[in-house]
Amino acid sequence: MENETDTPASDFIRDIIREDLATGKHAQIVTRFPPEPNGYLHIGHAKAICLDFGVAEEFGGTYHLRFDDTNPAAEDVEYVEAIREDIKWLGFDPGEHEFFASDYFERMYDYAVELIEQGLAYVCALTPDEFKEYRGVPTRPGKASPGRERSVEENLDLFVRMRAGEFPDGSYVLRARIDMSSPNLHLRDPAIYRIKRATHHRTGDAWCLYPMYDFAHCIEDAIEGITHSLCTLEFEVHRPLYDWILAHVSVPTRPRQIEFSRLNLTYTVMSKRKLLELVEGGEVSGWDDPRLPTLAGLRRRGYTGASIRSFCRKVGITKVDGVSDVARLEFEIKDELNRVAPRRMAILNPVKLVIDNWPAGKVDELEAINNPEDESAGSRMVPFGRELYVEREDFMEAPTRKFHRLGPGREVRLRYGYLVTCTGCDKNEAGEVVAIHCDYDPATRGGTAPDGRRVKGTIHWVSAEHAAAADVRLYDRLFGVECPDE
Ligand code: ATP
Ligand code: MG
Repeated sequence: MENETDTPASDFIRDIIREDLATGKHAQIVTRFPPEPNGYLHIGHAKAICLDFGVAEEFGGTYHLRFDDTNPAAEDVEYVEAIREDIKWLGFDPGEHEFFASDYFERMYDYAVELIEQGLAYVCALTPDEFKEYRGVPTRPGKASPGRERSVEENLDLFVRMRAGEFPDGSYVLRARIDMSSPNLHLRDPAIYRIKRATHHRTGDAWCLYPMYDFAHCIEDAIEGITHSLCTLEFEVHRPLYDWILAHVSVPTRPRQIEFSRLNLTYTVMSKRKLLELVEGGEVSGWDDPRLPTLAGLRRRGYTGASIRSFCRKVGITKVDGVSDVARLEFEIKDELNRVAPRRMAILNPVKLVIDNWPAGKVDELEAINNPEDESAGSRMVPFGRELYVEREDFMEAPTRKFHRLGPGREVRLRYGYLVTCTGCDKNEAGEVVAIHCDYDPATRGGTAPDGRRVKGTIHWVSAEHAAAADVRLYDRLFGVECPDE
């Protein structure tokens, strides 16, 4: 890619993959990006996608897009479609490798039955408060739930009936039977199934029993033959559970989970929950509000997929969480647009400039360069007449010493046009400038004076007669403070 350096990226994850390929542990790698379709993707997700899909591309492997839709309450097809579109825009194409966790519900259920049959899972009737209380704190062993000693037969019977809808929401959970004294609370008999009556965006009302993330995710990875399951650092403490489940059910493969640091940016918030709050609260105009760090918002703001990939590449992959300066992201798009964007003149806050010695009715056509950074972009002709618009801020009635643009008696260059000298201005009753008057030097067409005299300022303009009106939206950062999360 044009915007990316030729040196291959290097980090601890790529080192692991390189080693696994060299030792023959894997002949080919398979990775996945597993969004939950409960919101739009943000630039943090882009970092994960660039890693998940990027390494698969680099090492000749395959990558899966898997919708991790195990929690029906917050998920929606609108999000599924938006995620697909954003990934394509970013420059990746999973093709036929698109999967849904919900397609594995039946198999997941069977794996849960396997755990029960081995005495490694049991049905528990504790209330959520009791559950927490029994689990305890890392420094002291927890207390066993009465359900822990249920027989295999009774557990199987209850689990079948949980699925059949015989019990109300929240009355029972299925728990993995691991270790109530583990210092890692995730291993203290975590819940792996819960009863929840909610219509799922794909399976409808077929299920009232849904797997918990920790149980589902590792099984999804194993079913798909994922070799390296890359996720963010907060999942590090979940890894023993990931490994424990895979070790105790008859899944076809044993993926390896590896964690890396999240992307955080200054002057914005990143979590989907907080973004949803802004969208639903009407603080922004929608998920694609150009101030948001969502990919849809960044796209609307004018970012390109290439600039975001370049940013993610430069941020790199580490084990240390940190906050990246949003200016680094802004730099990427400025850098790209500087190289590729055609230049046009536009006036945001116009004031008329009248060239009094310009022949009435005469229109000149001046040659303007399309992109000074790119000769192949060529040039265009722009009309120039007696009345122009210039920026209000390019004029000062009493110029300060460092102001080199228009002011009475000052000569400036009109870009691609002529040198003009300001002779004065007209004001309305309120004292506002309504027109600036100038005389032009006919010998300076193109912007240079034959006698070699120099001017310090060059300003842009549009012909009043020929200019087209346009809506221009100016956006600032989402928050005025650097770390809104704090
Ligand atoms: P959020 O915390 O913003 O709500 P999430 O982690 O709940 O996001 P998922 O849809 O579950 O969102 O995330 C899919 C993948 O994207 C996960 O593997 C997750 O680790 C990764 N991811 C999410 N946020 C970031 C981030 N800020 N930086 C890097 N990767 C991220
Ligand atoms: Mg999540």
